[in-house]
Amino acid sequence: MSDTSLRLVWVYPDLLSTYGDQGNALVVERRARQRGLDVQRLDVRSDQPIPTSGDIYLIGGGEDRPQRLAAERLLRDGGLNRAVDNGAIVFAVCAGYQIMGHEFVNDLGERSAGLGLLDVTSSRGEAARCVGDVLGDADEYLGLPQLTGFENHQGITHLGPGVRPLARVRLGNGNGTGDGTEGAWRDTVFGTYLHGPVLARNPLIADMLIKLSLDVNALTPVDDTWYDALRQERIAAATQPA
Ligand code: GLN
Repeated sequence: MSDTSLRLVWVYPDLLSTYGDQGNALVVERRARQRGLDVQRLDVRSDQPIPTSGDIYLIGGGEDRPQRLAAERLLRDGGLNRAVDNGAIVFAVCAGYQIMGHEFVNDLGERSAGLGLLDVTSSRGEAARCVGDVLGDADEYLGLPQLTGFENHQGITHLGPGVRPLARVRLGNGNGTGDGTEGAWRDTVFGTYLHGPVLARNPLIADMLIKLSLDVNALTPVDDTWYDALRQERIAAATQPA
């Protein structure tokens, strides 16, 4: 990327965009513009090639059938893997997160190959679907405050040695394997089960992605009053007895 422009790619909005995940693109776009960056946002539908010149790629959640189709098309296209090889940043949610791994399984028990960008493997959870608020302590290496989000998934995700968990859950299931982990990351690729949209609830994750793409350690502060109010409201709702 140049010093003043950022290419933001929203991958497959026609297949992967549940629970308001498209809000993640709006948050990155706005926070980058607030820092004076010229943002070129590209929404790439699943019948279009994935450009390899993006700086940040965002991928959302999806139901089982669109998820399988999306994985097939992304694998055939190959552009996202090439972009990551060139240093691009990926932030993927739920179905998108599972697709970043080696393999996932749908409601019919069919296995699909993922892109292998994260050392994780997803299977069908035997227990009840994981639905509800999540609170988690972010991985210490990421320097982020407590994460808040909403999960809704049947798949569960096992982490291999090539990734670190994005967070440890205080509330909710996260990866759903019972080990207390939520999401996974390595280098420039991040996956999470959190919707919300997660970047509206945790704007400092958006800033982390922007900092990575600019290769800087800090950004000019912006007014986070609205985000803070949303965070506090959701954290209070999650922790209040029903
Ligand atoms: N279809 C996947 C699952 O149920 C992902 C769901 C989602 O993206 N919300 O695990």
